[in-house]
Amino acid sequence: METIDVFDLIERMSALIRSEERKKCAALGLQAVHLQALNYILRCNRYSDTPAALTNYLGMTRGTVSQTLSLLEKKGYIKKTADTHDRRIVHLALLPEGQTILEKARPAELFIKAGTLLQKKANIGDYENIFANALTALQKANRSQSFGQCKTCHYFTTTDDGFLCGLTKQALSQTDSEKICQEHTVVLSRY
Ligand code: SF4
Repeated sequence: METIDVFDLIERMSALIRSEERKKCAALGLQAVHLQALNYILRCNRYSDTPAALTNYLGMTRGTVSQTLSLLEKKGYIKKTADTHDRRIVHLALLPEGQTILEKARPAELFIKAGTLLQKKANIGDYENIFANALTALQKANRSQSFGQCKTCHYFTTTDDGFLCGLTKQALSQTDSEKICQEHTVVLSRY
């Protein structure tokens, strides 16, 4: 298969997932961008829970993201908290109502059914590697940040006391290790 076909497939998969998302969001009175923002806030770590990082992640304008966050806050799905050291920085957190609406809006059944079909054909890990590499290639071509999972980062370090971020020199919990980060740096040997 030619490389270009992989990206063609990804585009078709994205269109299918977005179409399913739009249907679910419409039924809940949301737009797809609201779901994407909630999903990001659920998954991001403490270095990435800001409107600026969300704007980078979504690749949208600051105005669109700002309107999205205002609506989510008004509906009681998220809360904004000023940083304790720098009051100009705002941190975003998902509230229980946001978590509930996110679970309802996600195309979970689609993923479960597709995952079951995939598992019958091959090891799911094989597909994950292919798509992780394709995503890394797209991000490199686009010169965008990887926003990868912390435990796959070049700076992620395991010590006798647990996990450590080699960039900030701060300790990381198991939960931190599974979140996504705007400072994530792809391990060079991986790609
Ligand atoms: S190890 Fe990497 S991904 Fe994890 S917090 Fe540090 S910079 Fe972010």
